[in-house]
Amino acid sequence: MKAIIVGAGIGGLTAAISLRRAGVEAVVFEKAPELREIGAGISVWTNAMKALEKIGVADAVREAGRQEIGGTIRSWNGERISEIPADVLEKRFGLNVVLTRPELQEVLLAALPHDTVRLDAECVGFRQAGSSVTVLFAGGREERGELLVGADGLRSVVRERLFGGARPRYAGFTAWRGLVDLGDEREGEGFEAWGRGNIFGLVSLGRGRFYWYATKNAPEGQRDAPEGRKAELTRLFGGWHEPIPTVIEATEEADILRNDVYDREPLKRWGMGRVTLLGDAAHPMTPNLGQGACQAIEDAVMLAACVRGEANVEKALRGYEERRAGRVAGVVRRSRLLGKAAQLENPLLCALRNAAAGAMPLRLQLRQLDPILDYEE
Ligand SMILES: Cc1cc2nc3c(=O)[nH]c(=O)nc-3n(C[C@H](O)[C@H](O)[C@H](O)COP(=O)(O)OP(=O)(O)OC[C@H]3O[C@@H](n4cnc5c(N)ncnc54)[C@H](O)[C@@H]3O)c2cc1C
Repeated sequence: MKAIIVGAGIGGLTAAISLRRAGVEAVVFEKAPELREIGAGISVWTNAMKALEKIGVADAVREAGRQEIGGTIRSWNGERISEIPADVLEKRFGLNVVLTRPELQEVLLAALPHDTVRLDAECVGFRQAGSSVTVLFAGGREERGELLVGADGLRSVVRERLFGGARPRYAGFTAWRGLVDLGDEREGEGFEAWGRGNIFGLVSLGRGRFYWYATKNAPEGQRDAPEGRKAELTRLFGGWHEPIPTVIEATEEADILRNDVYDREPLKRWGMGRVTLLGDAAHPMTPNLGQGACQAIEDAVMLAACVRGEANVEKALRGYEERRAGRVAGVVRRSRLLGKAAQLENPLLCALRNAAAGAMPLRLQLRQLDPILDYEE
């Protein structure tokens, strides 16, 4: 059986590995002319690590990244709001790993035969007939297979052809990301600092390297300030606690990424016939739980399990969608809710939010994470 996967992001590559392990000939078509995963760091939480374990790549991810990740929330001025120590988190849920996106991409690519990914192949549509699906690419190329997986991200063409072109929902804030080398002195430091309508997070990647992210409430599509990204970030966060101003200062202007943040209302159906969706194409979410790619990984492993266990492709795909839809809808909603709380602007509401988060006992904080991290199918 041949599966055509559109999109070589984390979701598409993981799907290729999982399907190949299930005995399916999986080929990935990517519109970009080269494979260059952009974005700074990525947290691969326990739930995704358990899924990666099943397809034999968890050890390589662990080796490439850094473990012992805790969760510390501070106020913009450095006051501690709440903390989940790394050892407590690990004892309860298992290991989380953080690494850069290119590192994760490299691990996934290393688990695939070198000709699995075909570049410069932009999917523009598909047609289904009988027991096959033909995928159409820009320039007139066609490729035929027994199933099609749309892993083509937030503005998925496969999704659009299945369900129409509804726009994603703008979450009301924009996000910057970057990588920085701070040396060994701050090794292991990590936190998320909450302000009013903006947050700043720092995650240690080991060997003195750090991944940082920042957000602010903004109208959709707002352009960069004329003085540039770094100067804008310094204006917004220069008065926040150390090492935030130092982190911004130490990052190269050209290395600062910026994206507006979107999600979508969870779909009830993800596919039709021999076509299905996976990852952001099916369920983009705000980054507040760090679960977008983790859910794409869970999807990929479940998709392969369903295909392996069912000779009827359409039944296998509907089974996969059914088993994933409820789980993913819950994560999308929680992430959205957390995003709303993190981006609050009203001073009174911010004070209440911080007080409520600070008063929450550790065991309750952990219980809130149970449905996300303590998951394995
Ligand atoms: C600020 C921020 C921080 C985040 N942090 C985390 C985190 O810590 N942990 C986490 O799990 N998630 C995180 N996420 C979410 C995560 O980045 C995404 O959910 C994840 O990358 C989605 O992977 P994907 O493979 O589904 O889609 P994508 O990564 O978007 O990949 C889609 C691929 O399809 C290709 N493509 C698109 N259209 C076509 C076409 N027509 N034909 C062929 N190819 C096509 C694209 O070029 C791309 O390579 C974060 C997101 C943001 C914005």
